[in-house]
Amino acid sequence: MDLNQQFIWLLGVTILAFLSYRKKALTGSGAIASFVVGALITFAFSLHGLLLLAAFFLSSTVLGRLLQRKDENEESFEEKGEKRDAKQVLANGGWAAFASLFFLFVNHPLWYIAFVASLAAVNSDTWASSIGKRSKTPPKMIITGEVVSIGQSGGTTLLGNLGAIAGSMFIVLTAMSFQFLSPVDGIPWWTWLIIVAIGFVSQWIDALAGALFQALNYCGVCDAYTEKKNHCHQRTKTIKGKQWIDNDVVNHLCSFSAFLMGAIVGIFLYF
Ligand SMILES: [Zn+2]
Repeated sequence: MDLNQQFIWLLGVTILAFLSYRKKALTGSGAIASFVVGALITFAFSLHGLLLLAAFFLSSTVLGRLLQRKDENEESFEEKGEKRDAKQVLANGGWAAFASLFFLFVNHPLWYIAFVASLAAVNSDTWASSIGKRSKTPPKMIITGEVVSIGQSGGTTLLGNLGAIAGSMFIVLTAMSFQFLSPVDGIPWWTWLIIVAIGFVSQWIDALAGALFQALNYCGVCDAYTEKKNHCHQRTKTIKGKQWIDNDVVNHLCSFSAFLMGAIVGIFLYF
């Protein structure tokens, strides 16, 4: 691979991270983490990998903003806003970066499948929540079926599920469209279909873990359920789940499941 060209893409990563910081899509730590993730992906998969990362990052940022509800502001249900910090970036892109690192050292195509699967999963997850938020029917808890607040972890809607499939397909279609730039070729069509399914299933694992283990807090001042640690200038009471299991931990589980399933598919394909 042409090292000079790699440095040009790396310059692109730097500019993208900086612009995202300036546009308030990333915090300072988030921009640094994005640079590291972007650099590993660039060295492993060159422009092809970078395009996949950009497809995830740009589409989920744009969708998140376009589909934002008018009533969604500082008092939204979730702990964090649209500005991503390092923890969030690594929860989404960390396993894709790990797959890139393995590919750099071992240079085996199975890590490419793990890489695409992991990005398909986090894209599926972000598209599901952005698109699902616009559902006219309220979300139902994944296991119990009880109606829950919009944005609450573990709540799903039909629209959200369609968004999840579309999000996973978007990454796979981008990968297929730019195959001519990829260092790995000859991936059979059914493997691409399996990667779409892995993305979707991992997003479900994410929702399931959110429903079962993620912390749900109660604010006694305004009588509301929230994922925030503080509400109405007071510490909330954890009524369900574990406080340390937040959105980032659940996202790690999503991207890691896909990474693992992708690697297993790679093993079956190549060994
Ligand atoms: Zn409150």
